Amino acid sequence: MLIAAVPLRTKMTTLYSHSRLSSYENCKKKFHFRYVLELPAESEGVEAFVGKRVHEVLERLYLFVEREQLPSLERVIERYYALFDEHYDPERIRIVKAGLDRAHYRELGADCLARFYRRHYPFDADQTLGLEQRVVFPLDPEERYGIQGIIDRVVRARDGAIEVHDYKTGAYVPSQKALDADRQLALYQIGIERDLDEPAPIRLVWHYLAKGQIRTSTRTPAQLEALRRETLERIEQIEAETDWSATKNKLCNWCEYREACPAWGASQALPTGAARPAPASERAAPGQPAERPPAKKPAPNLRQTPDGQIELL
Ligand code: SF4
Repeated sequence: MLIAAVPLRTKMTTLYSHSRLSSYENCKKKFHFRYVLELPAESEGVEAFVGKRVHEVLERLYLFVEREQLPSLERVIERYYALFDEHYDPERIRIVKAGLDRAHYRELGADCLARFYRRHYPFDADQTLGLEQRVVFPLDPEERYGIQGIIDRVVRARDGAIEVHDYKTGAYVPSQKALDADRQLALYQIGIERDLDEPAPIRLVWHYLAKGQIRTSTRTPAQLEALRRETLERIEQIEAETDWSATKNKLCNWCEYREACPAWGASQALPTGAARPAPASERAAPGQPAERPPAKKPAPNLRQTPDGQIELL
């Protein structure tokens, strides 16, 4: 294993994730509900639910590949159906899109997995260095703020490059220009580079499972340094924020807080306040890794990250 399992950064007081930053950028009110008031989300979009199950199955698949016990496609799909059926709670899972039902989404995940399996069988094209690999790193010399994230799979490619792989189950495939400006995987690259035993070129790789497409991108050191500075500035902006106004957007139908949102007619205003440090679930206690924030997966035509991000297109 070339990648440190969990880098320990106990000096950092506040950890941000890409999803947390995007939440603020999309709607300050939602950020306030989730990260300042820490209101629990009672429901989960079906797209997020499917995405979680697909990620679980792919992680398990690669664990078996590492043990040279490659399961058949039938076994992989069986496992997916079992997880889907075990965890699906109709009282909690929300289907937003009209005309679509549980069966549709159940098959959507199975199709993603079957497409991926057939394309990559027999899974010997590269070497897995990490699965669900956590990265944590400071953004500033004083280590006041840090970034954390979970990489779906870290890979050593045949040409020696290290690859940061990310699975997407939504139907939307961004343009190359958008991927070349993508923040999430580029932040992960900063974290990965710090923990490599020896320098190596790094590639960012997205698997658009619903479309069977793979996209890649690379970053220069200057681009990564600019990203580090921009991200730090964004965090400082959030830390100083006092205006938690709502911004209606395309994601409101998927928002767990819509019933409490004044922009959608909620009658009782919730208290406001300045940003607080990350909730306990996102802070690294001394000697302990922070936990992964709640994950959400994308709706078709929405863009989403593996550690819980739904973003406006
Ligand atoms: S419903 Fe829309 S406007 Fe209201 S908090 Fe959620 S995302 Fe923001």
